[in-house]
Amino acid sequence: MTAHFITAACFRQTGYSGNHPLAIPRVGTVERLCQALGWFGPGDAPLECLPASRAEIERFHMPEYLDAIQRSEAARGASAEDRARYQIGTLENPVFEGLWHRAAVSVGGAMLAARLAHQGAVAFHPGGGTQHGLRARASGFCFLNDPVFAILTLLDLGRRRVLYVDFDAHHGDGVEAAFLHDPRVMTLSLHEVGRWPFTGGAEDQGPRRCNLPLPPCLNDSEFDRILVQAVLPVARDFAPDAVVVTVGADALQGDPLSSLAITNSRLWAAVETVCALAPARVVLGGGGYNPWTLGRAWAGLWARLSGQEIPAQLPKAARAVLASLDCDLVEEEDRAPAWFATLADPPNPGPIRPETEALIAATRKRLAAQDVAFPQNGRARQRPEQKRTHA
Ligand SMILES: [Zn+2]
Repeated sequence: MTAHFITAACFRQTGYSGNHPLAIPRVGTVERLCQALGWFGPGDAPLECLPASRAEIERFHMPEYLDAIQRSEAARGASAEDRARYQIGTLENPVFEGLWHRAAVSVGGAMLAARLAHQGAVAFHPGGGTQHGLRARASGFCFLNDPVFAILTLLDLGRRRVLYVDFDAHHGDGVEAAFLHDPRVMTLSLHEVGRWPFTGGAEDQGPRRCNLPLPPCLNDSEFDRILVQAVLPVARDFAPDAVVVTVGADALQGDPLSSLAITNSRLWAAVETVCALAPARVVLGGGGYNPWTLGRAWAGLWARLSGQEIPAQLPKAARAVLASLDCDLVEEEDRAPAWFATLADPPNPGPIRPETEALIAATRKRLAAQDVAFPQNGRARQRPEQKRTHA
């Protein structure tokens, strides 16, 4: 399997500033770790992506909203009207120098990733994954929605059924809303229950929309069971010919903005499992507000996707990268020693709690009912015995 790492100079800087949760070194940390570990060889060198054009971005986002982003950046701040109407210039979605460029490059990277994926590669774009961006409004630190463009590009290239899987700790609401009425796309989001944006609840389901609100402190055993018994049956039933995955690192143990507790090796395995479902695979970044857990998770994911070995103990150069990081949101006493010496987290197994079992049971029940109600969907359409049943 050919793997591509997509990046750009703007992602090596933080962009957001002050005490914003994204004002931490993210993609730059991943790249420095991969370089220290020798994971960008001649055949695996990162590809630099270009910004999408305004015309390309207007395919999904409203021109009035794009005007507001550009004039706010030029004025170094949003007007009261733009702030109210478009949620630009708020604490959550601040105006900063290079805002438009950074957002446009995230879209350009997602489109490049889709083109490479269509040729049979797996394309990893850790600067992407701005899954909360809405058609005409900023939301959840996201201005434009690059996963939407990865999906649209795959469809343009002839892919017929694109599965979007979102492992970020927050509901992938923007992508879900964008394709709610497009039968070619299914969205499947795993996220912590009761977290912002407070959508994607147990009742928020549809034939091509699956939400798995996870209980707090979700452990590795529970995550694995949900993957095998809920995610995979739903995903296989859709029979995708392309997958787009957002691999937010905020679902990991130690993230300051969520309280899920899965470990990075389970996340790597989950991404690989989903990527095995289709011949075209795009993997995007997403949230993640602890620079140590994020850097280790996404560097390790690149190693797994590109077939390189992860050492049990990190060499000096990689340790130096992790030792150089800082983050106001993670107290010093909460920084685990493993974050500075290893890449793979120690496993976090645990009991399968009743709420986890209930979530799986409800999903499977819904899937069974849906196969009857929508026999034209995905796999059901391809199974001759199902056809006979419903004829
Ligand atoms: Zn998130």
